[in-house]
Order: sequence, then structure tokens, then C-alpha cells
Amino acid sequence: MSLIDLLKKQGYHIIGTHGAIKPCLWLNRSIKASGSCYKASFYGISSHRCVQMTPCIACNQRCLHCWRPVEEPFSIESWDRPELIVEQSLAEQKRFVSGYGGTGATDRQAWKEALMPKHAAISLVGEPTLYPYLDELIAQYRDRDMSTFVVTNGTRPGVVARISPSQLYMSLDAPDHETYLKACNPVSDLWDRVNESLEVLRSRPGQRSALRLTLVKGLNMIDPEGYARLVKKAQPDYVEVKAYMHLGYSRYRLPREAMPSHAEVLAFARKVADAAGYRPAMDVELSRVALLSKDGSARPIG
Ligand code: SF4
Repeated sequence: MSLIDLLKKQGYHIIGTHGAIKPCLWLNRSIKASGSCYKASFYGISSHRCVQMTPCIACNQRCLHCWRPVEEPFSIESWDRPELIVEQSLAEQKRFVSGYGGTGATDRQAWKEALMPKHAAISLVGEPTLYPYLDELIAQYRDRDMSTFVVTNGTRPGVVARISPSQLYMSLDAPDHETYLKACNPVSDLWDRVNESLEVLRSRPGQRSALRLTLVKGLNMIDPEGYARLVKKAQPDYVEVKAYMHLGYSRYRLPREAMPSHAEVLAFARKVADAAGYRPAMDVELSRVALLSKDGSARPIG
């Protein structure tokens, strides 16, 4: 089965020829006024107004913790224009949200708001920095009065240096080279580029940034001081320390026991914070995630 067919089976809607959108479980809860994603607590993002999308389903890593079928190769012959991707992402989101209109469990106010998204999470699957028009894509959402989060694996430092989303996230899934090769299984050795991107983040003090550590027990949940050294190199505004969740295709690569508990995440996050000179700001037990910042506070996106 092709990557597109596998993603469709997992509930992704394909947009253009190499993008995708998937309304997340938190949109479903938020539209029924029964819960919100941790990004609502940390950054003030309304889950029911968030479009979770990617302009590029291809990736240059094959992380063991990834929920997607990353082993499937995907080649892109020509790139879709950003306006097409943005318009299709918003049309698909609207089509999905419209379906909630007639159900009794829906909060009418939240439903009306959800028809007018305010945020694009450019992070769903694949590596968005492989898309050559990423800066234009961000600008298109901005022109529609939407904030943007971009999550990159950091393997394209030139793009990390250039793009200006509302918050630039970079995944940091290893404290050292050897663990990187094991945990992220890149198509070629990209560790030097990941390190270069950390330096780039530091060189952009005006750009709001976050490092995200996804902790997998028995794999990369080691050496908090090693992570702290890399955090110090990048000096991001925030560090998210999050548990791996045993979901999707990652279940074929990792055992269930690889998921740390919330208490284990908090203890690890505290060690990273102490060694990097950061402070715990918030945590959300349901998502097993802790937020660190330099002064122990978090500022909403605005
Ligand atoms: S970088 Fe992201 S999309 Fe690519 S394999 Fe890793 S987790 Fe999946």
C-alpha cells in the first residue's frame, strides 16, 4: 500500500498532491466544550480553532516514536503552490467542522468559532522544511489572521534561519550523536545539521522558539545533562518535555513500556531544567508533558 493510502486509512485527508490535514482528537473535545489540548494551557491556542496540517508528507527521518508509516518512501515530482495548500486545508477543516453542526453534544458558540480557524499547526506528519515555499505558506496563513506553529526536525538549518512562524518548534530527540542515529533513523547522518539548527535558533532572539523532547524509555530517556547542553546551545524561549505515546505505527517499533509516566517526565524535566538554567513553568498530566522556560512563566501567542 502507498504512503497516501496508509495515511488515508489512518484518517488523514490529503491536500494537493503532497500535503495532509487531520483534525485532532482535541478539536473534537473542544467543540463539545469537554477539554483542550495542552497548547491551550501553555500558549492559549483554542483547540477547536486549530488546523493541524502539513505541506509535505515526506520525511528525511524515520523516528522510532513516529506514529506514521515512515518506512514507506514517498517521492515528490513537482511542488504545489502554497495558496492551493492553504485553501484546501481550510476547506477540508470547514467540511469536517460542519459535520458537528447538527449534533446535540456540540457547543454552538465553539462550533461557530471553529468554522473560522485562528491557528495552523504545521506539524502533522513529514518534514515541513522540505517544502520549498514554507515561508510563503506561513505568510498566507498570517494574511488570514491566523497564528502558526512550525515543528521541524532541525535537519534543514537554512530554512530554520529563514522562516518566521508565530512559534518555531524544533524536535530534539537525542542528547548525543549515537542516540540520534538510533532514535531518529535518518536517511543519511544529519546530526551535524541538527546541531547547526540549534545554533541558528540561538542567533534569532526575536523569533519565539521551543525545543521539544519526546522521551522514550529504553531509547533516548537518558543523560538529561546532555540534553541540557544542547538546550543551552539553542537558548529557546521554551522547552517542552513530553512522553512518547504508544500509538499508530510506533506500536510496531516500540513496546508499550517505552511510555514514561507523568511523574517520570516531571523528574527528567526537572533535571534538564536544573542543568540548563531553566525553570518549570507548567505541566499537563493527561498529555504527560512539562513546559520549561527561562523565568518559569509562559506567554500566550498573541
Ligand atoms: S521527524 Fe517527525 S515526521 Fe519525521 S519521522 Fe520523525 S517524528 Fe515522524
